Amino acid sequence: MFKGIAASPGVAIGKVFLYNRDDSAVPRRKIKSTDVPKEIARFEEALIKTGSEIATIRNNISREMGIKHGEIFNAHLLVLEDRMIIDEVISRLRSERLNIEAAFEDVLKKYIRVFQKMDDKYLRERISDIEDVGKRLLRNLLGKKRQTLLNLPANSVVVAYDLSPSDTATMHRKNVIAFITDIGGKTSHTAIMAKSLEIPAVVGLENATGTVKNNDTIIVDGTKGLVFINPKRNILDQYLKEQKRLVKYDKELSESKSLPAETKDTHHVELAANIEIPEEIPAVIEHGAQGIGLYRTEYFYMNRPDLPTEEEHYSAYSEVASKIRPHAVTIRTLDLGGDKFLSQLKVPKEMNPFLGWRAIRLSLAKPELFKTQLRAILRASVHGKVRLMYPMISGVEELVAANKFLEEAKKELKAKRMPFDKNIEVGVMIEVPSAALIADILATKVDFFSIGTNDLIQYALAVDRVNEKIAYLYEPLHPAVLRLIKRIIDAGHSKGIWVGMCGEMAGEPAFAPLLLGLGLDEFSVPLTSILKIKKIIRSVNYDETKRLAEEALDLPSAREVEALLRKKFNDVISDTMQDQQ
Ligand code: PEP
Ligand code: MG
Repeated sequence: MFKGIAASPGVAIGKVFLYNRDDSAVPRRKIKSTDVPKEIARFEEALIKTGSEIATIRNNISREMGIKHGEIFNAHLLVLEDRMIIDEVISRLRSERLNIEAAFEDVLKKYIRVFQKMDDKYLRERISDIEDVGKRLLRNLLGKKRQTLLNLPANSVVVAYDLSPSDTATMHRKNVIAFITDIGGKTSHTAIMAKSLEIPAVVGLENATGTVKNNDTIIVDGTKGLVFINPKRNILDQYLKEQKRLVKYDKELSESKSLPAETKDTHHVELAANIEIPEEIPAVIEHGAQGIGLYRTEYFYMNRPDLPTEEEHYSAYSEVASKIRPHAVTIRTLDLGGDKFLSQLKVPKEMNPFLGWRAIRLSLAKPELFKTQLRAILRASVHGKVRLMYPMISGVEELVAANKFLEEAKKELKAKRMPFDKNIEVGVMIEVPSAALIADILATKVDFFSIGTNDLIQYALAVDRVNEKIAYLYEPLHPAVLRLIKRIIDAGHSKGIWVGMCGEMAGEPAFAPLLLGLGLDEFSVPLTSILKIKKIIRSVNYDETKRLAEEALDLPSAREVEALLRKKFNDVISDTMQDQQ
């Protein structure tokens, strides 16, 4: 048995699929001299195929983001056309009688070693170009597809050192019933994606990959953060029973599906869902959510070689808007960076990606990329109730700059006589402490706030949200976090706007009475939390939660706030609460 961080609730019993993202071991064999021309022909073919792939990406990027960004891929083409490299590969193939993949890999490694030793920073930075091109060419030579998580056997439990959010996105309905990772934190986007897919996940296990073998039987208890490898019969029986209990419990919960999210004394709140991909809509409706409080659009840019066009954005957003109507969907503009990367954009690696060129900062620096998305969101607004939200706003000027692009996008649509909702609501995420501290000013310039606690907590407490080593410091109930939340809600209300929360904290059942008492108007939560949160809201009195919040705000530590919560609301929260030991 292993204990890690509970990242997505539920129990799964399946077979291990060890996923090694760097598993690109290149086959190595001697060839006959008569095979040399055949190997050279394969090399030429792969060079042409790789060249045309890179040119397509370059053209797309140039079109969407400007020629300057596309030019990065010219550097890739230059590596590919480098005569010195090509000649050396061919001569090695002839002299050493190695298969072409191995000959190419050897030459590639040699060049990388040479570049690594260079003093010139510009040349050292070319290493990543050489690596990118090399991997692409090798994939083509080996006839390999980029993703290996696409066609797994049924009942697979993916075991990996780490999974990127884009890896996780490909698991959608692909026979993956759970995953576990060696590293990662509770609010990493990989963990969040697991909740969206409604599959159990445990992260931060440290050495799961070193312990399991392919096809081992594995139990993943995503509620308690436990993993069992080749379990004994009694454990297996216990978990088979637990699975049955969960099915029954979910059925009970779903009885409140069409009931409103209101307290016993009829204080009403909005209870919406967070989504990452449009395919989640049927499940959102099935769980009785009153709309989508956060649609993370960045997944739309992932797992593809090019950037989505305005028409593609438009069609995805209109589909979501029309399926969820009469409820609203809050579409958040691109939030790349941090733990969500995109190979197409070639954003340089940073020392502190969560503090770096991320979200709105990146969008403002790439007007065409940003406006393509803004136009599509505006156009989709005629198909339902669409709200627009900017991520990571840290000051008024960023909001003003983003709104300037929005106005330009509106003008462009008007010129083309394309319809959109002229009164579209525009809000900001409050997820940077500076924005929380000037919430009273921001509130005069937007229609709503949505508190992004995943980031707000990591920035306020200086705790990287994806680092399992310091996960114990990531405390949503920390007095500093509670005071920031209170400040944001009060600032919004005093200026007459509503305040929601779309960070994972809103979906943590035990925290619901406290957030209610702090005056939150909208809870936007992962699919797995909707009915649990509703159950709690419907079992409490608003007045009592207000008193709880007042008391909690005076307490000196997260531990004491949690104790107070348990003391006052234990009956209500205990059966919905995730075990956090
Ligand atoms: C947040 O930061 O709380 C949030 C909802 O945004 P994301 O998790 O996508 O950073
Ligand atoms: Mg965020």
